[in-house]
Amino acid sequence: MPTPTMRGVDPAGCPFCQTMASPDGMGVTLQAAEGWLALPADRQRPANLGHILLVPAIHIATLNELPDDHAGAMLAALKALTTAVRQAFAATGITVRLNLGPPGQSVGHLHLHVIPRHRDDGFPTTASIPIGLPERQRQADTLRGQFPAHPAS
Ligand SMILES: [Zn+2]
Repeated sequence: MPTPTMRGVDPAGCPFCQTMASPDGMGVTLQAAEGWLALPADRQRPANLGHILLVPAIHIATLNELPDDHAGAMLAALKALTTAVRQAFAATGITVRLNLGPPGQSVGHLHLHVIPRHRDDGFPTTASIPIGLPERQRQADTLRGQFPAHPAS
């Protein structure tokens, strides 16, 4: 049986680092959560559009590699993002998932799934489907509207 693996354990091959560095600008900077960004997931359940990933802006593979003094910032980011996703996507609730290592964690860059929930949405039985770049950019723009622009530094 093959050993489960993770993509992107090396930052140079990490899809999240590549997305955050992209000029397409899908990374949404979170207010009151320095060092954390939101990225729309590239696979989403149709009834749960707005599935967002919370990721550290620097490449950290797993929760065990997260410095203890960054744990509070992660929870502050999660609080800010769940509030924003609820507003941006008119969700009645949120499901948060954290996979640690394979087979649950498929990308080797620490991330939490923030999934908008709606009454009778069929979650989690409905399969997720690939979401194209234009839809992910639309979701990023919708979410970005929940956070005032950062002042120029
Ligand atoms: Zn990365």
